[in-house]
Amino acid sequence: MRIVLVGPPGAGKGTQAAFLAKNLSIPHISTGDLFRANISQQTELGKLAKSYMDAGNLVPDEVTIGMARDRMAQPDAANGFLLDGFPRNVSQAEALDEALKSDSVKLDAVLDLEVPEDEVVKRIAGRRICRNDSAHVFHVEYKQPKTEGVCDACGGELYQRGDDKEETVRTRLEVYHSETEPIIDHYRAQGLVVTISALGEVADVTERAMAALQKSA
Ligand code: AMP
Repeated sequence: MRIVLVGPPGAGKGTQAAFLAKNLSIPHISTGDLFRANISQQTELGKLAKSYMDAGNLVPDEVTIGMARDRMAQPDAANGFLLDGFPRNVSQAEALDEALKSDSVKLDAVLDLEVPEDEVVKRIAGRRICRNDSAHVFHVEYKQPKTEGVCDACGGELYQRGDDKEETVRTRLEVYHSETEPIIDHYRAQGLVVTISALGEVADVTERAMAALQKSA
């Protein structure tokens, strides 16, 4: 299956993407994770991306689209993928449409995770992520690790993403509304959008998402 995951920052896209990709045996492709990997390896791309990310803005399309396409061209993505955080604006969605068309393949679904805005801010401000694996996500209130600052799953150090600080979250939400939400209409016109609530336990949201994807397949 070829799936795009959309939703505001804090909707749990990364967490859900990891479970869904595993259930569906397709790679989880997160442009945010690709940028963060470039930042920790101190590549030129990482240096460029960092200033945009720290401010809560989108990294320019010229670099983002190329990076996403390179990743999608890897052999493990030949029969499907789950895109998390890409496309993030209409021109990226158009670039993806073209790339898929030239490979003679199609998206199967665009899964839209819905969360009320006040919940989003609460979720992100308390979010702590494992340095070893961004799918290991904790929360200072809702999902405390057994030992403060240490990942239950692998012992990695937990940290707050620089762009999870409250003032940056506000910018990211504005960017989501103005830039990313319009892609939902873009895909609605193609009959691809399935919307589910992202509230509740992680496992319940995964179940809801799997049921919605099976219906749309
Ligand atoms: P995420 O991990 O998906 O929340 O992404 C973190 C940050 O990476 C975003 O706030 C953007 O600065 C940048 N980013 C990730 N994906 C994209 C994209 N498709 N286009 C532009 N910037 C992106």
